[in-house]
Amino acid sequence: MRNELKNMLEQGLNEAKQVLSSQDLNNVRLKYFGKKGLITQYSRKLGSLAPEERPVVGKMVNSIRQELENYLSVREQEILATEERGKLEAERVDVELPGRSYRRGYPHPLQLIIQEITATFLGMGFTVAEGPEVELDFYNFEALNIPPEHPAREMHDSLYITDNILLRTHTSPVQARTMEKLYPQPVRIIVPGRVYRRDALDATHSPIFHQIEGLLVDKDITFGDLKGILTVFVHKFFGEDRVVRLRPSFFPFTEPSTEVDVSCGCQGKGCRICKNTGWLEILGAGSVHPKVLSMAKYDPEVYSGFAFGMGVERIAMLRYGVSDIRHFYENDLRFLKQFR
Ligand SMILES: [Zn+2]
Repeated sequence: MRNELKNMLEQGLNEAKQVLSSQDLNNVRLKYFGKKGLITQYSRKLGSLAPEERPVVGKMVNSIRQELENYLSVREQEILATEERGKLEAERVDVELPGRSYRRGYPHPLQLIIQEITATFLGMGFTVAEGPEVELDFYNFEALNIPPEHPAREMHDSLYITDNILLRTHTSPVQARTMEKLYPQPVRIIVPGRVYRRDALDATHSPIFHQIEGLLVDKDITFGDLKGILTVFVHKFFGEDRVVRLRPSFFPFTEPSTEVDVSCGCQGKGCRICKNTGWLEILGAGSVHPKVLSMAKYDPEVYSGFAFGMGVERIAMLRYGVSDIRHFYENDLRFLKQFR
């Protein structure tokens, strides 16, 4: 039995020497000191020994236990220190590595156009007005002199939610809403916003697009004021060398009405953007129809005004030479990055 004990001690010390992780060291500890461990088993056997042998063997078992325990705790310190070093090494920060680069966001090209146009009109004393995109038929049509059965309704290809609620087909209902709110004060607003039509998506149409609407109502406003303000806008937005051209047109909410063209950057030579005409159609405008004024309680004998509206996508396509409207909605970074 004494030899057995000696061998067991040697084996235990040897095993403890060879382990490299605290997990393995724990296994060695269990093997000798656990409930069913080798040393535990010897301690239990002591009772069955002859009385004279008991103290001798008992002492031996105790000293083996002591020795192995001491060595295990020495190894534990060593292994923990090694593991700690490895962990620190793995977590070491290389301060010379280049940092992660994050791509910066910037405004969408349509947003850039809206901001620029809006800023130009803010500079001329206009303020920004907004309204709901889910609109009552009354504000979208009737208040703008487009009664039920009016043929202009068909041009709009509206998306109705109920019989008298629809997704607004233009930003013009904000004109009616603002006049109603401000009466009898003068009105001078610019209205950027999203509008909806029942159109299929193709190179020049989208069921959702953006408009910017302008409205000025006051005493003694003439058609000349409209041309003056739009000319200032065109010169700021397209360049001082551009020329404004008005062509007669029809809109139910303005009388008289006009299409506004601006001379193309090719200076009459003809190019892809102006389709060789030398002119770009940019917006529709006119004097506010007396019926629209009186529906908002403004007396047409005293008040007059003008309104204009333009498609943001169209202006952006002309400004940036983009030939397909879908580019603006596809969120392709290769496209969007060009507008920083
Ligand atoms: Zn041109």
